[in-house]
Amino acid sequence: MKRILITGGAGFIGSHLCERLLNEGNEVISVDNYFTGAKSNIVHLLDNPYFELIRHDVTMPFFIEVDEIYNMACPASPIHYQYNAIKTIKTSVMGVINILGLAKRIKAKILQASTSEVYGDPKIHPQPETYWGNVNPIGPRSCYDEGKRCAESLFVNYNEQNNVRIKIARIFNTYGPRMHPNDGRVVSNFIVQALNGKDITIYGDGSQTRSFQYVDDLVNGVIKLMETPDSITWPINIGNPDEFSIKELADKVIEITGSKSKITFEPLPADDPTQRKPDISKAKEILKWEPKIKLEEGLLKTIEYFKKTLSL
Ligand code: NAD
Ligand code: UDP
Repeated sequence: MKRILITGGAGFIGSHLCERLLNEGNEVISVDNYFTGAKSNIVHLLDNPYFELIRHDVTMPFFIEVDEIYNMACPASPIHYQYNAIKTIKTSVMGVINILGLAKRIKAKILQASTSEVYGDPKIHPQPETYWGNVNPIGPRSCYDEGKRCAESLFVNYNEQNNVRIKIARIFNTYGPRMHPNDGRVVSNFIVQALNGKDITIYGDGSQTRSFQYVDDLVNGVIKLMETPDSITWPINIGNPDEFSIKELADKVIEITGSKSKITFEPLPADDPTQRKPDISKAKEILKWEPKIKLEEGLLKTIEYFKKTLSL
């Protein structure tokens, strides 16, 4: 049995990770400030005596003894990370310094939830890990993108200077049950709108693309990455390479829900990436991992979840 710390454990992805690692027989500690996470995401795990909750903000140092750390703490949807941009940067920089300092002191292995946003609005398609990206350092997404880029730099430097055992997962758009219904991300927005018979809001003309990964596939991928030998310290893309335009996604959600919602077009936010698709050759080769769940199947499960949560 390992003792594992998950920062952001009450969030969408963090809660699935807590559940999986507990089910595999580990002791799991969630540290969360509940900015975008919720106790309701993890309440079903509270009967497990090997699960512990700590309310804490990672921008403040803390001390604990664990074997492994998954650093998931950070708001992930544009409306949430832009709500307090400076706090988002603090979470990815001061928070990461605190967590890396902890990992260094207790000699824990540590994984960073990085993001495809480090590639910005990519000029290379699909995106391999060797691509340095195209990020606007002063744009509305920069608090998130540059925070995560700085976090990667901190991880690499703590590894090189202090021998901290690091893993960096570059996570691409992930969806599934326990997404926040109001967090503004496209999958949750479209499903909630379709279930309520409201207009489906496409930003721009809907030709921009994303590659959507179901949360169970992601959890498999990050756990496999954590289990790689200590020599694997470079970033690895974890995403589903099946690419869809936002218009195609809207059509699929309408079709699967059987909704009568109409599509409306709204202005595209500044710096919204025009295309995104992971090159997952490294994940396939090193982790022997690739996503298994097709968009239709994942959407069905997510729609079921929202139907229950919204009592529709
Ligand atoms: P989420 O907002 O649901 O979860 C983030 C969690 O971190 C929440 O529980 C929140 O309360 C907590 N948190 C935020 N700031 C904190 C702080 N300062 N101290 C302690 N806790 C804090 O988002 P998510 O989608 O579950 O994302 C989890 C991680 O994965 C994030 O680091 C995100 O950047 C990364 N990621 C997610 C996606 C995606 O598509 N969901 C894509 C790429 C990367
Ligand atoms: N989007 C949209 N309608 C919505 C929410 C988002 O058309 O109601 C678009 C958004 O402009 C972007 C894409 O969907 O082009 C994915 O947005 P999301 O916020 O989910 O993720 P990110 O842009 O961070 O990849």
